Amino acid sequence: MNQKALYKVSYGMYIISSKKKDRVNGQIANTLFQVASQPPTVAVSINKKNLTHQFIKESGVFAASILSEEAPLSFIGRFGFKSGRDIDKFKQISYKIGKTGSPLVLENTLAYLEAEVINEADAGTHTIFIARLVDTDLIQEGAPMTYAFYHKVKRGMAPKTAPTYIKEEKKVGMAEYRCTVCGYVYDPEEGDPDGGIKPGTPFENLPEDWVCPVCGAGKAKFEKEI
Ligand code: FE
Repeated sequence: MNQKALYKVSYGMYIISSKKKDRVNGQIANTLFQVASQPPTVAVSINKKNLTHQFIKESGVFAASILSEEAPLSFIGRFGFKSGRDIDKFKQISYKIGKTGSPLVLENTLAYLEAEVINEADAGTHTIFIARLVDTDLIQEGAPMTYAFYHKVKRGMAPKTAPTYIKEEKKVGMAEYRCTVCGYVYDPEEGDPDGGIKPGTPFENLPEDWVCPVCGAGKAKFEKEI
């Protein structure tokens, strides 16, 4: 079986959020899709280990904030590579509480959907939540970020808890460095434009206080790609 065939499946990029009493949490997911139109119904696949999974299970509601192509890696990293068990992901983030009580992200997003869970399916490591929309709105114009754009243009990786995570084969002879925390690869040819690093900057020349644009790990957490 050639798992690379799975790379040909298209996805978007979303922040899936939910609530538990007065707490809110959210995470990145690429597996959100509309499954019926009358009434409008969506489904999302969430890893059972994630805090957002627990919140959706208990509250029976979630929101999906649709990411813009403009969303920086650090923003995606905050929701994708950090756990709400360790940090309040919504601190210093612009958001509002929606009709379901779920937080709706207002920055780097184009639109939001809010939904109530009507069914769920056990998918092994993940649960697929099927939910009826209760509210939606547009926030700003722009192009939605696709998973392919995130990989190719942003050079982002999937965390190990993502349904689409596939262990990547290492490239040969490239002076790239990989973050051992989140899997982000620093490519000197591209630099780190979000972090003010110009294309053509070798890893060795990065300032000592430079951090991984995705997860915030320091230079010491990077390993040379062999
Ligand atoms: Fe990282």
